[in-house]
Amino acid sequence: MGTGLLGALRTLSHDRFRRCASPVCEGMFVDTSKAGRRRYCMPEVCGNRLNVASHRARRLESARRRPDSRGAGDTDSG
Ligand SMILES: [Zn+2]
Repeated sequence: MGTGLLGALRTLSHDRFRRCASPVCEGMFVDTSKAGRRRYCMPEVCGNRLNVASHRARRLESARRRPDSRGAGDTDSG
């Protein structure tokens, strides 16, 4: 029943087993697309540079906050 599909997958995995193109990801994946142009293990995550950029920016922002400005008129508005 699924012998043909299995055979195709095994053949593909030999040729299309590659590393994720994202510089911040070390994932591996098998390109099963016909065109064979897949570059990321998770295109939605690894292919989204903005995602990583905003992540970095957030960390920087929190790091730039001064530690001596705590507990000064803190309110629970939010
Ligand atoms: Zn990846």
